[in-house]
Amino acid sequence: MKNDLTGKIHRLGIMGGTFDPIHYGHLVAAEMARAEFKLDKVLFIPTGTPPHKKRRDISAGKLRYEMVKCAIQDNSAFDISALEIEREGPSYTVETLRVLRRKWPNHELYFITGSDALLEIFSWREAEEIFNLIQFIGAARPGFDASDFLLKVQQEHPETQGKIHYLEVPALAISSTDIRARVQRGEPIRYLLPESVRLFLEQRGLYKGKA
Ligand code: ATP
Ligand code: MG
Repeated sequence: MKNDLTGKIHRLGIMGGTFDPIHYGHLVAAEMARAEFKLDKVLFIPTGTPPHKKRRDISAGKLRYEMVKCAIQDNSAFDISALEIEREGPSYTVETLRVLRRKWPNHELYFITGSDALLEIFSWREAEEIFNLIQFIGAARPGFDASDFLLKVQQEHPETQGKIHYLEVPALAISSTDIRARVQRGEPIRYLLPESVRLFLEQRGLYKGKA
């Protein structure tokens, strides 16, 4: 689908995540996907209650939303949606995608994930339906080689053919888990995430004293 001259959005990237906190791994994946797939916008959607995350208490949606907002403010192609954090109960990707599909029936929608999340797609609720709603961009993430997975998927789920795109990005071995652990141990996190986000979580005392 090509852009018309009215400046309408036709290709939209969706970057879902817990973002607890958002870091440069997320931002680099989103930016490279934007450029490579000529996305008009990348919409960051912090999750509400993620069904897959059984770890410690996740920071309040409002705080994670604020951190994402801080992190993306200098990129005019990045936007944020409170769709999931405002929803009650567990947030399933398929529900979110149905809402987005209704909102943008004629757009090309791309869900951007790291290769770790890509490996889990088929455990998501209504995985088959998800592929009717959106295509995937899987960004390389250190420690998660998705190439075997992609081959297997092609064999076992031929209906997904052409709907999963692999994206090489400069590999960043940064994770929110590591950032939280660093804060807890009193180790530096500077340069792993935007300075505005670092200051925000420092001011709020986030991740201190939690296992
Ligand atoms: P946690 O350690 O709490 O799971 P995380 O760093 O994995 O946090 P998430 O919020 O779980 O961050 O990830 C949101 C999305 O961003 C997922 O699709 C994930 O694969 C992707 N992602 C996270 N970090 C990176 C990274 N360093 N490089 C590429 N993709 C990433
Ligand atoms: Mg993760």
